[in-house]
Amino acid sequence: MLKTTLAGSLPKPAWLAEPETLWAPWALESPERRLEAIQDATRLALEDQELAGLDIVSDGEQSRQHFVHGFLEGIEGIDFNNKRRIGIRDDRYEADCPVIVSALSRPKPVHADQVAYARAHTDRELKFTLPGPMTIVDTLADDHYGDRESMAMAFADILNAEAADLIAAGADVIQFDEPAFNAYTHLVPGWGVEALNRAAKGLKAKKTAVHICYGYGIQQNNDWKKTLGKVWAQYREILPALVASDIDQISLEFAGSRVPVDVLELVGDKKDVLVGAIDVASAEVETPEQVAAVIRAALKHMPAERIYPCTNCGMAPMKREIAYAKLASLAKGAKMVRESL
Ligand code: ZN
Repeated sequence: MLKTTLAGSLPKPAWLAEPETLWAPWALESPERRLEAIQDATRLALEDQELAGLDIVSDGEQSRQHFVHGFLEGIEGIDFNNKRRIGIRDDRYEADCPVIVSALSRPKPVHADQVAYARAHTDRELKFTLPGPMTIVDTLADDHYGDRESMAMAFADILNAEAADLIAAGADVIQFDEPAFNAYTHLVPGWGVEALNRAAKGLKAKKTAVHICYGYGIQQNNDWKKTLGKVWAQYREILPALVASDIDQISLEFAGSRVPVDVLELVGDKKDVLVGAIDVASAEVETPEQVAAVIRAALKHMPAERIYPCTNCGMAPMKREIAYAKLASLAKGAKMVRESL
């Protein structure tokens, strides 16, 4: 009960990529040397999560420069050489995005080798994250499909095949990251969840999950959050559709955030919730007591069997020592609550 986990990404060592940077450039040019460094960093990330006391671990996304583009690099039909600067997350910020130039295809599994490597180096439950269809569509320029819904469905089919390969390679949990759901709440009950269900269709994972957050602790997100008012109500708009979806687990943020914890009443005992009890937008390490307080607040609205203490979001842009200190507090805080139940 109260098994701990993380949203997904972790900082990379400086010998692998530029620290504390999103879309961080790789430190090594040679593909062979880079692969060796990625594998070393993956083994360290797994061991450090185990030392911190997490129950469900990830590869820390050490093989990906960015959680969306890292996957897209393995998909054909996308031009990475002529990136286009576009507004993403409802124009919250601009990014240099690759362009879809023809029909999409996946010539071979993108992340299966990375999953197999991680699987061989931990006995704990292993989560692997993939970008969700709406978030992919929102992080790409399009010269081929013409509308976002058709693009999302094409990606859903590709993600479904990829996820099946990752489960075969040893992933226990497949999580689709959909931060875009919070930027386009009105589209979630329509094609948003339809594409998500299509991506998860028939998967034989122990669990499927979807992660929706208010983003990394970068300046553009912090500025956006200032415009959202005293109470952040986005989850209220999207949770009914997610509860009705085919996904087993919903990952939400609560730590240091203005999300009212009673939104969990909308979930009740119908789905698992990965309760974000670690703020990734702050460098201050939570105490185990602070983590325990978030979990106890969640327990007022849903049963303990359905709660998985987690981080608010990915930790890729954080300092390494802070990220792992936060994970240790997460595990300690969950243990405190577990022992008091
Ligand atoms: Zn997130």
